[in-house]
Amino acid sequence: MRKNIVAGNWKMNLDYEKGVSLFSEIVNMVKDEVVGNQEVIVCTPAIHLSSVGKLAGSVKNVAVGAQNIHQAESGAYTGEISATQVKSTGAAYVILGHSERRAYFGETDELLAQKVEAALKHGLSPIFCIGETKEERESGRFFDVIKSQLEKGVFHLSGEDFTNIVLAYEPVWAIGTGLTATPEQAQEVHAFIRDTIAGKYGEQIAADTTILYGGSANPGNAKELFSQPDIDGGLIGGASLKSRDFVDIVKVFN
Ligand code: 13P
Repeated sequence: MRKNIVAGNWKMNLDYEKGVSLFSEIVNMVKDEVVGNQEVIVCTPAIHLSSVGKLAGSVKNVAVGAQNIHQAESGAYTGEISATQVKSTGAAYVILGHSERRAYFGETDELLAQKVEAALKHGLSPIFCIGETKEERESGRFFDVIKSQLEKGVFHLSGEDFTNIVLAYEPVWAIGTGLTATPEQAQEVHAFIRDTIAGKYGEQIAADTTILYGGSANPGNAKELFSQPDIDGGLIGGASLKSRDFVDIVKVFN
């Protein structure tokens, strides 16, 4: 059975002290709330990883992730961080393909495919983000865009490797805008993603893949979104910076 996941993406927020303290608060609040096959993941800036990775290590079903890695193993890449370095902090996940990385840092599908390989090779599970822009939604091309992002970013993987991927559908027009996709709009795309996976890897792998929704998710809309049959949780930006809001979203699965 696939996991339900609520993952926070802190993006470039919180200094060292504030981040560690928010993470401790979250862990204390959720440690008795994470039920069954649910997992809570917090994706922090690199500066927090080793401290929060240690805190997470002792709590069942709570994990830590990074927000990016470089595709190379090591070397002269000033300012970058590798999969092995992230893994050595105790992190288990890495967000790849986020629309902010695609838009502001020129990350292409081809580069992302290499980063996905690097993550898997070193035991990190990618939370791989896909989603259309406002123009792509309005032109009706969004299914093609999403299919192409899947094909180029992750469909080069073997079925076995693919089982380590978590997908996140994040419509770009819903990120940080307060404009959430309606549960029906999100479900329609999630079902399409699951069908597309089934076409490539078969029904069983498709049924076992966790597909998160991201884009202005909050305690007020999470329940309706997560109750859709193909929505297995959320990737939460703004609301993950407030412990009460984030934990309320985690508790949607209780
Ligand atoms: P918001 O929840 O702030 O819209 O951000 C979503 C997101 O980009 C998570 O990766």
